Amino acid sequence: MEWDSPLYSAVLESFDRTAAIMDLDPNMANRLRTPERALIVTVPVRMDDGTIRNFHGYRVHHNDTRGPCKGGLRFWHDVNLGEVAALAMLMTLKCAVVGLPYGGAKGGVRVDPFKLSNDELQRLTRGFVQSMFDFIGPESDIPAPDMGTNERTMSWIMDTYSQMRGYSVPAIVTGKPINLGGSLGRRDATGRGVVYAIIEAAKVLSMPINSGTRVVVQGYGNVGEAAARKMAKLGASIIAVSDMKGGIWNPAGLDLKKVNEWVKQNRFLEGYPEAEAVSNEDLLRIECDVMIPAATGGVLTEELAKNLKCRIWAEGANGPVTIGGDRVLREREDIFVIPDVLANAGGVTVSYFEWVQGLQAFFWSAKEVNQRLYEIMKKAFHEVYAVRQNRKVDMRTAAQVLGVQRVAEAMKLRGLFP
Ligand code: NAD
Repeated sequence: MEWDSPLYSAVLESFDRTAAIMDLDPNMANRLRTPERALIVTVPVRMDDGTIRNFHGYRVHHNDTRGPCKGGLRFWHDVNLGEVAALAMLMTLKCAVVGLPYGGAKGGVRVDPFKLSNDELQRLTRGFVQSMFDFIGPESDIPAPDMGTNERTMSWIMDTYSQMRGYSVPAIVTGKPINLGGSLGRRDATGRGVVYAIIEAAKVLSMPINSGTRVVVQGYGNVGEAAARKMAKLGASIIAVSDMKGGIWNPAGLDLKKVNEWVKQNRFLEGYPEAEAVSNEDLLRIECDVMIPAATGGVLTEELAKNLKCRIWAEGANGPVTIGGDRVLREREDIFVIPDVLANAGGVTVSYFEWVQGLQAFFWSAKEVNQRLYEIMKKAFHEVYAVRQNRKVDMRTAAQVLGVQRVAEAMKLRGLFP
């Protein structure tokens, strides 16, 4: 199959289990098992030294029954079609779980963004937008940031698309700078949403969040840093964080201001003086109360899941658990899982706010954005939790049941064309 990849297999396994539990119409299940369409492009880019390199890019629409497709754009060294397709499917479910009027998409370019200059990244982004010009649009498919992309990338996307259209189209992309029609609160939204979900989980577990709450974050990027900062603001102690080069661990708690200053100066956490170095694998073995994977997919293997020592596992990252790891987590009643499609839905939710504000050309205060985000995350958490209790299933299955149910109902209402 074109989509074959470890992440796609993991997502399908979980979907098939959900479909069986729900007794989903097999025609509906078959339709949802594969994406609706995919675009594969090769983008030639003139490098600073005058040579030309070709980069492989993908954009996948998994399902657009409930509205325009929405999903991030990743610039990462190992991006492939299967991974992008799996992430697009997760986006369909995620948007449905939090009740947004969107379908799911995802995109990516296979590139190590750290090895390109700013000018090279700009040419690559513009070339990629040109290649997928007819595939995206403010009413059909709206990209957003993901690993290796940021506000700057979104500005280039908005500009290229607008130049090609002949007029300004802010709603083509979300995660833009405020000055270009971005939403207040978007930058921190995913990490903040993860914490809102943790707050609700702690409530149902009767677990206080205070200075005794030890938090570990894998992946100290956009999502991980914001989640750590917000948890620290609630009084929790952040005892370990990591990036792609490895982690830093201080059982007495890290001073995040100093950590951020270090990262600003040195780009990576490596060498931070007031902590011990720890590998990314060993980081997942640290005993803590809340573990937040916020890096990449497939990090929690079966072995690591067996040795996980946390009370709450809150998935900032998409697909952080392997098939084996997920099987173990389902059996571990001592660990409360907040699955990716719920935990990290804050990003797409505020992206939706940004899109709505852009279309209306009327902007909200940060307080309004965060309040609305909290309401949506809280509602979604308790809806998923209710499915868990009623069907006696794990949280991941419960979230999938809710998401699939909403998409399947919409498909039924729309019927089959022609
Ligand atoms: P980012 O590029 O800002 O940060 C990623 C961080 O993870 C970096 O610190 C990087 O060094 C680290 N990392 C990468 N590979 C790693 C590895 N193998 N082990 C440990 N650390 C590693 O990306 P981001 O936007 O924060 O996204 C992180 C995750 O959250 C991704 O899985 C992404 O799909 C998911 N996500 C992001 C958003 C969003 O709004 N940005 C929304 C939903 C989900």
